[in-house]
Amino acid sequence: MKIGLEVHVALPTKTKLFCSDLAYENQEEPNSNVCPVCLGLPGAKPVLNQNALDISARIAKALNCEINEKTWFVRKVYFYPDLPKGYQITQLDGAIGIKGYVDLNGKKIGIRRVQIEEDPARIIREKDYSLIDFNRSGVPLNEIVTEPDITSLEELKNFIEELRSILYYQGVNINQELKTDLNISLAEKRVEVKNVTGVKNLISAAEYEIKRQSVLIKEGKKINAETRSYKEDSNETVSSREKETEEEYGFTFEPDLTFYDTTKLTIPKAVIASNIAKELADKNEYNEKTIRELILFNRRNLSLLTSISKEEFKKGVSLIEKFASFGIEDYSEQEFRKMLDKDVSSIEKEGFLQLLGRTNKSEKKADKTEIEAGIKEMLSSDKTLFDRGIKDEKAMNFMIGEVKEKYHITGKEAADFIKKVIKGMLNN
Ligand SMILES: [Zn+2]
Repeated sequence: MKIGLEVHVALPTKTKLFCSDLAYENQEEPNSNVCPVCLGLPGAKPVLNQNALDISARIAKALNCEINEKTWFVRKVYFYPDLPKGYQITQLDGAIGIKGYVDLNGKKIGIRRVQIEEDPARIIREKDYSLIDFNRSGVPLNEIVTEPDITSLEELKNFIEELRSILYYQGVNINQELKTDLNISLAEKRVEVKNVTGVKNLISAAEYEIKRQSVLIKEGKKINAETRSYKEDSNETVSSREKETEEEYGFTFEPDLTFYDTTKLTIPKAVIASNIAKELADKNEYNEKTIRELILFNRRNLSLLTSISKEEFKKGVSLIEKFASFGIEDYSEQEFRKMLDKDVSSIEKEGFLQLLGRTNKSEKKADKTEIEAGIKEMLSSDKTLFDRGIKDEKAMNFMIGEVKEKYHITGKEAADFIKKVIKGMLNN
């Protein structure tokens, strides 16, 4: 059995790939976050978001790719309503990353390519008409193309978990629904299941295809090389007539953009949490599976568990579990340290909170100067946000949301305070 994937993932940039519209996922008014570039109007010229280039290089490196010294873009030409300029700007030979791999406990799953591309607009299908929302148009994506090295359903699950963890530590929002094309062949003929949304559906689609193709083989029937689509409601894949095959797309060099030199990018060493879990398990003689569960998708847990000694380790793990079981999410490293010295093995929540120096009613409040510093940093790191924030209610709400999430603050009073601080800074 051979399985290969093309995984599409949205990058954590504030603005879109080729224009300065905000790129965050939103439920706002359709077609409100658009400009001539992402609407694809004639004559509008793309300008590459440097941040998207940086993040893509980091992701490619984390996937053990070689980084192309010069990276460039192509137009993938096709006609579809979600792409009114008639082509999608993407990468091919000039992809940012090539020839990488993901290490699954010693087995390497090849990464053929990591490429940067723009998301098309969203098509909303109604009963007898369709609508288009361009808010998503131009959102930066990475397409991660694997070699067909995955050989079982179990391996597919492991690969996806590992990939998501690597992406999480590159700042990617892993709560987004990954969009995946799944290539799967039990015999020589290759079957592609296009546009599977979400991990759960990906696994179900693979499961269904494995069953379907095995039955055909058992019955001595032949498997067609074809494109299929996954139907979530009936949990099956069905043959679909595709708009084109890959060979039929026209690819041409994108002359509105240039060659980008990647040799000057500084790419920090990637955090591979599963490797760290292994090291922690060895070093502390502790169960690897438990550590994996705690750190694969949790920066704070990783930081806490790598900062304690072997003697403290067992207690540290149960303390993290204790915090979680009491639903306390907003604790600091200092609070963790403080509790590490105390015996909390059989303590109830109330006693725990008391030891922590908190009572049930007054949850910890983020420090005001801390919040102010955070806002300052956000505004200075993003000029667009700064410019838009002054006149734009949506940008303002976005910023308030970011701050609230970062400092785990809730409530209207806090929101008003944050707004006041932001306004004060914008006016200066
Ligand atoms: Zn735009």
